[in-house]
Amino acid sequence: MSKERAIRNLRLCSKDCLCLFVCPTGATDTETGQIDFDKCIGCGACSKACPAGAISMVPYEYPKEQPKDDEVIEKLKFIIESKVDQEQLANYIIKNSNNEGEKFLAKIISKANRLILEDLYRESGYMLPQSKKTKEFLNQLLEKDTTNNEVINKLLNLLNFND
Ligand code: SF4
Ligand code: SF4
Repeated sequence: MSKERAIRNLRLCSKDCLCLFVCPTGATDTETGQIDFDKCIGCGACSKACPAGAISMVPYEYPKEQPKDDEVIEKLKFIIESKVDQEQLANYIIKNSNNEGEKFLAKIISKANRLILEDLYRESGYMLPQSKKTKEFLNQLLEKDTTNNEVINKLLNLLNFND
Protein backbone atom coordinates (compact mmCIF):
# COMPACT_ATOMS: atom_id res chain seq x y z
CA MET A 1 0.00 0.00 0.00
CA SER A 2 1.29 3.45 -0.97
CA LYS A 3 2.26 5.74 1.84
CA GLU A 4 0.66 8.77 0.18
CA ARG A 5 -2.79 10.04 -0.69
CA ALA A 6 -3.91 12.80 -3.07
CA ILE A 7 -5.72 15.91 -1.87
CA ARG A 8 -7.23 18.66 -4.02
CA ASN A 9 -7.13 22.38 -3.31
CA LEU A 10 -10.48 23.54 -4.64
CA ARG A 11 -9.41 27.17 -4.77
CA LEU A 12 -6.80 26.30 -7.40
CA CYS A 13 -8.87 23.75 -9.35
CA SER A 14 -9.92 24.96 -12.82
CA LYS A 15 -12.30 22.01 -13.35
CA ASP A 16 -10.74 20.72 -16.56
CA CYS A 17 -11.12 17.14 -15.29
CA LEU A 18 -7.67 15.86 -16.35
CA CYS A 19 -7.31 14.16 -12.98
CA LEU A 20 -10.57 12.34 -13.64
CA PHE A 21 -9.24 10.89 -16.90
CA VAL A 22 -5.89 9.70 -15.59
CA CYS A 23 -6.97 8.25 -12.23
CA PRO A 24 -6.82 4.42 -12.43
CA THR A 25 -9.33 3.89 -9.62
CA GLY A 26 -11.98 6.58 -10.19
CA ALA A 27 -11.09 8.30 -6.94
CA THR A 28 -11.14 11.87 -8.27
CA ASP A 29 -14.73 13.08 -8.26
CA THR A 30 -14.73 16.50 -9.90
CA GLU A 31 -18.41 17.03 -9.17
CA THR A 32 -18.06 17.02 -5.40
CA GLY A 33 -14.48 18.30 -5.48
CA GLN A 34 -13.47 15.46 -3.16
CA ILE A 35 -10.88 12.77 -3.77
CA ASP A 36 -12.15 9.48 -2.39
CA PHE A 37 -9.65 8.57 0.29
CA ASP A 38 -10.65 4.88 0.27
CA LYS A 39 -10.24 4.51 -3.50
CA CYS A 40 -6.99 6.51 -3.82
CA ILE A 41 -3.93 4.23 -4.12
CA GLY A 42 -1.47 7.14 -4.04
CA CYS A 43 -0.04 6.63 -7.54
CA GLY A 44 0.37 10.40 -8.05
CA ALA A 45 -0.91 10.39 -11.67
CA CYS A 46 -3.51 13.10 -10.94
CA SER A 47 -0.97 15.34 -9.25
CA LYS A 48 1.41 15.10 -12.23
CA ALA A 49 -1.38 15.71 -14.76
CA CYS A 50 -3.01 18.65 -12.99
CA PRO A 51 -2.14 21.86 -14.89
CA ALA A 52 -3.28 24.08 -12.02
CA GLY A 53 -1.09 22.58 -9.30
CA ALA A 54 -4.27 21.87 -7.38
CA ILE A 55 -3.42 18.34 -6.25
CA SER A 56 -0.81 17.50 -3.66
CA MET A 57 0.35 14.15 -2.41
CA VAL A 58 0.34 13.95 1.37
CA PRO A 59 1.81 11.21 3.54
CA TYR A 60 -0.62 8.76 5.09
CA GLU A 61 1.43 8.94 8.27
CA TYR A 62 3.36 12.03 9.21
CA PRO A 63 6.81 11.72 10.73
CA LYS A 64 7.22 12.51 14.41
CA GLU A 65 7.57 16.15 15.29
CA GLN A 66 11.21 17.09 15.84
CA PRO A 67 11.88 18.53 19.29
CA LYS A 68 12.32 22.28 19.71
CA ASP A 69 14.39 24.00 22.33
CA ASP A 70 12.31 24.79 25.47
CA GLU A 71 13.36 28.42 25.29
CA VAL A 72 12.08 28.70 21.70
CA ILE A 73 8.72 27.17 22.72
CA GLU A 74 8.40 29.58 25.64
CA LYS A 75 9.11 32.58 23.37
CA LEU A 76 6.62 31.30 20.79
CA LYS A 77 3.93 30.97 23.48
CA PHE A 78 4.65 34.48 24.68
CA ILE A 79 4.29 35.96 21.19
CA ILE A 80 1.15 33.87 20.53
CA GLU A 81 -0.53 35.23 23.69
CA SER A 82 0.37 38.79 22.75
CA LYS A 83 -1.00 38.31 19.21
CA VAL A 84 -4.26 36.87 20.59
CA ASP A 85 -4.63 39.98 22.79
CA GLN A 86 -3.95 42.30 19.83
CA GLU A 87 -6.45 40.47 17.64
CA GLN A 88 -9.15 40.62 20.33
CA LEU A 89 -8.52 44.32 20.87
CA ALA A 90 -8.81 45.01 17.14
CA ASN A 91 -12.03 42.95 16.99
CA TYR A 92 -13.43 44.96 19.89
CA ILE A 93 -12.77 48.20 17.96
CA ILE A 94 -14.39 46.75 14.81
CA LYS A 95 -17.52 45.92 16.83
CA ASN A 96 -17.80 49.07 18.91
CA SER A 97 -16.28 52.00 17.02
CA ASN A 98 -18.43 54.45 15.05
CA ASN A 99 -15.47 55.74 13.11
CA GLU A 100 -15.15 54.06 9.68
CA GLY A 101 -11.44 54.88 9.34
CA GLU A 102 -10.72 53.40 12.76
CA LYS A 103 -12.73 50.28 11.91
CA PHE A 104 -10.87 49.85 8.61
CA LEU A 105 -7.51 50.06 10.34
CA ALA A 106 -8.67 47.65 13.07
CA LYS A 107 -9.74 45.12 10.39
CA ILE A 108 -6.25 45.21 8.88
CA ILE A 109 -4.65 44.77 12.31
CA SER A 110 -7.01 41.89 13.18
CA LYS A 111 -6.32 40.09 9.90
CA ALA A 112 -2.55 40.62 10.15
CA ASN A 113 -2.51 39.22 13.69
CA ARG A 114 -4.58 36.22 12.62
CA LEU A 115 -2.11 35.42 9.82
CA ILE A 116 0.88 35.76 12.14
CA LEU A 117 -0.90 33.60 14.75
CA GLU A 118 -1.52 30.82 12.25
CA ASP A 119 2.12 30.98 11.28
CA LEU A 120 3.24 30.79 14.91
CA TYR A 121 0.97 27.81 15.59
CA ARG A 122 2.45 26.06 12.57
CA GLU A 123 5.93 26.84 13.87
CA SER A 124 5.00 25.37 17.25
CA GLY A 125 4.10 22.06 15.61
CA TYR A 126 0.31 22.28 15.81
CA MET A 127 -0.03 21.63 12.09
CA LEU A 128 1.30 18.08 12.30
CA PRO A 129 -1.95 16.11 12.48
CA GLN A 130 -0.49 13.06 14.21
CA SER A 131 1.41 14.92 16.91
CA LYS A 132 0.74 14.76 20.64
CA LYS A 133 -0.12 18.47 20.61
CA THR A 134 -2.94 17.91 18.13
CA LYS A 135 -4.34 15.15 20.35
CA GLU A 136 -4.17 17.42 23.40
CA PHE A 137 -5.77 20.26 21.44
CA LEU A 138 -8.65 18.06 20.27
CA ASN A 139 -9.21 16.77 23.81
CA GLN A 140 -9.30 20.34 25.09
CA LEU A 141 -11.91 21.18 22.44
CA LEU A 142 -13.98 18.21 23.59
CA GLU A 143 -14.10 19.65 27.09
CA LYS A 144 -14.99 23.17 25.92
CA ASP A 145 -17.25 22.68 22.93
CA THR A 146 -19.90 19.97 23.14
CA THR A 147 -21.59 20.98 19.85
CA ASN A 148 -18.82 19.45 17.72
CA ASN A 149 -18.13 16.34 19.80
CA GLU A 150 -19.06 13.93 17.04
CA VAL A 151 -16.59 15.44 14.54
CA ILE A 152 -13.83 15.78 17.13
CA ASN A 153 -14.23 12.16 18.26
CA LYS A 154 -14.12 11.06 14.62
CA LEU A 155 -10.83 12.91 14.16
CA LEU A 156 -9.41 11.43 17.37
CA ASN A 157 -10.23 7.94 16.07
CA LEU A 158 -8.93 8.57 12.55
CA LEU A 159 -5.54 10.06 13.38
CA ASN A 160 -2.74 7.62 14.17
CA PHE A 161 -1.03 9.65 16.86
CA ASN A 162 2.65 8.85 16.85
CA ASP A 163 4.19 10.56 19.87
S1 SF4 B 1 -6.68 18.22 -13.09
FE1 SF4 B 1 -6.40 19.78 -11.50
S2 SF4 B 1 -7.43 21.57 -12.28
FE2 SF4 B 1 -8.15 19.84 -13.46
S3 SF4 B 1 -10.04 19.15 -12.41
FE3 SF4 B 1 -8.33 17.97 -11.60
S4 SF4 B 1 -7.68 19.09 -9.79
FE4 SF4 B 1 -8.92 20.48 -11.00
S1 SF4 C 1 -3.11 9.47 -6.59
FE1 SF4 C 1 -3.67 8.05 -8.21
S2 SF4 C 1 -5.34 6.85 -7.31
FE2 SF4 C 1 -5.12 8.66 -6.03
S3 SF4 C 1 -6.58 10.08 -6.87
FE3 SF4 C 1 -4.62 10.52 -7.87
S4 SF4 C 1 -4.65 9.31 -9.75
FE4 SF4 C 1 -6.28 8.53 -8.43
